Amino acid sequence: MRRPVILVSNDDGIHAPGLLALARALEAVGIVYIVAPDRERSTVGHALTLHRPLRVDQLGQRRFCVNGMPSDCVNLGILGILPERPSLVVAGINHGANLGDDVTYSGTVSAAMEGTLLGIPSVAISVASEEDGFDAAARFGAILATHVLAQGMPRDTLLNVNVPANPTGVKVTRLGRRTYREKVVEQTDPRGKRYYWIGAGPALWEAGEETDFAAIQKGVVSVTPLHLDLTNYQAMEALRGWEGRLGARSRRKRARPASP
Ligand code: MN
Repeated sequence: MRRPVILVSNDDGIHAPGLLALARALEAVGIVYIVAPDRERSTVGHALTLHRPLRVDQLGQRRFCVNGMPSDCVNLGILGILPERPSLVVAGINHGANLGDDVTYSGTVSAAMEGTLLGIPSVAISVASEEDGFDAAARFGAILATHVLAQGMPRDTLLNVNVPANPTGVKVTRLGRRTYREKVVEQTDPRGKRYYWIGAGPALWEAGEETDFAAIQKGVVSVTPLHLDLTNYQAMEALRGWEGRLGARSRRKRARPASP
């Protein structure tokens, strides 16, 4: 049987130890191509580079870096660099957890989103511990990759995986909710100019059964299936009543004669 082609990317950059650990572990599963940003691009979300050229440096036989964002790397990898469509995209291993609402900022998760948008099963992996390095997460990444390649994945769905230190099991979870209690830090720089720093302070989470955050606290691997359709279907029903009123108002406005 032919070995599957796997595209590996990240948002911590081409030199990040998590990327290396993941690529090494996945070598046992398939033919690994690395296409990653040339520097750290954490928290850039799903940004794409459309207004300047992207340059690619080939650093090894199947190792490339790009002067762009994580989503650029996956897009370019699949559509431009790899000799064939990969069977799987794996992003990570991110240095630090990607839980709950934070996934909307995450370059790691966005790299997997890009793979999903291009119709390829995709997984994002992050370590949720400081002390354990990337070994456990890399091991789990290889196990999960093997499983996904054999079983497939639900359509339009990506897996967001967070691995704690010494995991004792695996739980399928939902995204937790951040509680925002931190303040914006406002200070003055050495030249007397005011500056602000957002996102300071520790992350606080709503305790909730079945959340990714709860799984990590219990010391088990969290696997959250994410859907790219952001439509709130319940709200669609609730807002149906708006259609008539908003429609009537927009018609009235259009009927008004143009001012001289
Ligand atoms: Mn990162």
